[in-house]
Amino acid sequence: MKTIGLIGGMSFESTAVYYRLINEMVRAELGGIASAEVLMHSVNFAEIVGYQKAGRWDLAEKRLADCALGLQAAGADCILICTNTMHLVADGIAARLEVPLLHIVDETAAAIKASGFRRPLVLATRYTMEHGFYTDRMRALGLDPRVPDAEDRTIVHDVIFEELCAGTVKETSREAYIAIIEKARLAGADCVILGCTEICLLLDADALPLPGFDSTTIHARAASAFALSAAPAMRVAI
Ligand code: GLU
Repeated sequence: MKTIGLIGGMSFESTAVYYRLINEMVRAELGGIASAEVLMHSVNFAEIVGYQKAGRWDLAEKRLADCALGLQAAGADCILICTNTMHLVADGIAARLEVPLLHIVDETAAAIKASGFRRPLVLATRYTMEHGFYTDRMRALGLDPRVPDAEDRTIVHDVIFEELCAGTVKETSREAYIAIIEKARLAGADCVILGCTEICLLLDADALPLPGFDSTTIHARAASAFALSAAPAMRVAI
């Protein structure tokens, strides 16, 4: 089995979900009491949020690249950045690595296309919804992503940082998210991406007005499949 390298802590609420899912998937595949080989570098999220707010993506990239190189040196055969938002700096990190970086946007797009959908609503942080790294990449992969209007983007973003990353789940926020999904359905979206790794704590992807694609589950599945694959670990060009 190959060793999975996780860069976590963004937030730890979702990294805990990754850890559980990856282990459950490996156990389901291998049976018995098998579990995954995992190395993790969990960062102080307050530091990363400070870089986000200051627009210092260069410092964030350097910080996470150092984590990735450390995991690689410790024996990780692949690297996952356990947050959608920080994929804003994923290409710069992948370029420094010899092992593959399993990209959350590529994995999510592949899952949507395999299910025959094309027009996903993206629910995520403001950074993910408004910077091109996510939607442009989805477009390049053949999808037609949509984001909520400005007012709804503020609601989605604030719930993530003020509630979900702080360990709070509110019914009123669940209702607000579902209303936003319903609005997108009426406007022509054919599915919804839980494009922030904490949203699965708020919403059940299988009980929404549109078919749901949870980025945490999809990314964890990519990691467990990689760990159990027969192919030798090698760098994949992005
Ligand atoms: N975990 C979240 C995401 O998937 C947000 C936290 C962050 O800003 O990294 O985007």
